[in-house]
Amino acid sequence: MHDDEFENRQSEPSAAVDAEAMEVAREAADTSNDPQGPKKIAVIMAHPDDAEFICGGTVARWAEEGNEIVYVLLTSGDKGSDDPEMTAERLVATREAEQVAAATLLGAKDVVFLKQPDAYLEPNLELRKKLVRVIRQLKPDVVVCQDPTVRWADKSYINHPDHRAAGEATLAAIFPSARDRLTFPELLDEGLEPHKVGEVYLAGALEPDMAVDITAQMGKKIDSLRAHASQVGDFEFEPMIWEWAKDTAEKHPKHGEYAESFRYFKLD
Ligand SMILES: [Zn+2]
Repeated sequence: MHDDEFENRQSEPSAAVDAEAMEVAREAADTSNDPQGPKKIAVIMAHPDDAEFICGGTVARWAEEGNEIVYVLLTSGDKGSDDPEMTAERLVATREAEQVAAATLLGAKDVVFLKQPDAYLEPNLELRKKLVRVIRQLKPDVVVCQDPTVRWADKSYINHPDHRAAGEATLAAIFPSARDRLTFPELLDEGLEPHKVGEVYLAGALEPDMAVDITAQMGKKIDSLRAHASQVGDFEFEPMIWEWAKDTAEKHPKHGEYAESFRYFKLD
């Protein structure tokens, strides 16, 4: 690393309060009531390995910066195998263990599995209620989730319907359901008071408006993807990951050599 690069990186603010994000935030709202100190961040994803692919470097950076990170996995990836000998039960055990290993490697504190069936996720009221429950239990300041508006990319990629459903249900749970006392009143009986999430980052977003420099976390990101051995197998994914992160950095100048991008919301 060149000295000037090092200086640039040192002078950057915390990624969890990224400069661009803060600018948007200042315009959108008075931030004087924000929680001080490290933030509690919930990363809510459809499948094991989704977070590592689309925001693993950012998770690692935020953890290094002292933020508390908890993963919430909607499914345990029980359809993710072509092996005729594989059973859903064995696959769940393998993939949950891989996800815990990957999240731990990135510095996350815990992984919550909601054990919804893989490939059948629907953004219905039942799923929304499960998400409201977990949001009220965890009380995150920040939620990272998938972008429900991504239907496809290029000529070769149709987005998994679970990814869209996970993003849709999570956003609906954040706003307005987790916040509103009279929505799912039975959750009050469980002792779960309303909770307001302050910030949302859509990972893998269709129209990203900010980026996080993950140059120093690329090694951890790649190691965390390798932890998903049942999925990556012998596939040489590494060049693709470097290329994605480089392309992202080129689209968002001043965010280092390798980056991950997000669409950012600062909620009132
Ligand atoms: Zn996925």
